[in-house]
Amino acid sequence: MEYYKIQLVVIVSLMIVLPNTQGWGEDGHAIICRIAQSRLSDSAANAVKNLLPEYAQNDLGNVCSWADRVRFYLHWSAPLHFADTPDNLCNYQYDRDCKDQDGVKGRCVVGAIKNYTDQLLDYGKNTQNNLTQALMFLSHFMGDVHQPLHVGFTSDRGANSINVHWYTRKQNLHHVWDVNIIETAEERFYDSNIDEFTNAIQENITKTWSDQVLGWETCDSKETACPDIYASEGVQAACQWAYKGAPEGSVLEDDYFLSRLPVVSLRLAQGGVRLAATLNRIFG
Ligand SMILES: [Zn+2]
Repeated sequence: MEYYKIQLVVIVSLMIVLPNTQGWGEDGHAIICRIAQSRLSDSAANAVKNLLPEYAQNDLGNVCSWADRVRFYLHWSAPLHFADTPDNLCNYQYDRDCKDQDGVKGRCVVGAIKNYTDQLLDYGKNTQNNLTQALMFLSHFMGDVHQPLHVGFTSDRGANSINVHWYTRKQNLHHVWDVNIIETAEERFYDSNIDEFTNAIQENITKTWSDQVLGWETCDSKETACPDIYASEGVQAACQWAYKGAPEGSVLEDDYFLSRLPVVSLRLAQGGVRLAATLNRIFG
């Protein structure tokens, strides 16, 4: 009995101390998925409702971090959360960059979005694939590809190895973009309430960015999903906003926070709008 107690304590402690370096934190992913679900066509909303596991209670936002939790035992899925690009080039190319550490083509966040989109196109047909998992992976990876440092540089692993201070706390730069900018915004401007932050972004989508939304939704040619564009935007934002002004050892405070928050809000909005557009194209 004692042994199990100790084991439980160790596991719980590890869950608390292990840094989250797997994409937007829970809040970022939930915001993207709730924005997306609010924009679904009737048929897409129905398909999503049918595919969601019961415990999600028809809230896509409840399962959008599932992919981060399973990567520790579904090891094959770990490289699917990001794409690394050559240092300082600030551009992304599928053929060059979408591969895992062993060089297997297509094993990156962009390839994963294409793969799970293809799987979901079999909805309503006979298929071997688990479409519930495909939906949860697609919804998560559409979020990840919009986190600029998920299409960052290779040598610093998307800024995971760049140590900074977020105000007074030690942090790595990747985590600042996954979690801290969102968390600080919620604390300072939205009463520590994720719904208020989500609503503020929703309002920007219908007002400030309303003339851009159609452009975000549209894919070139007849593609169902077009994540290459999102990855290219991502590494450009990584260079212009994330890496810039945040070298190893820097202290990031209001100047950095207030100038980067609009970029984070924009990427969350684009992630939500595009996830919805993609699901609407998939489920017709
Ligand atoms: Zn992720």
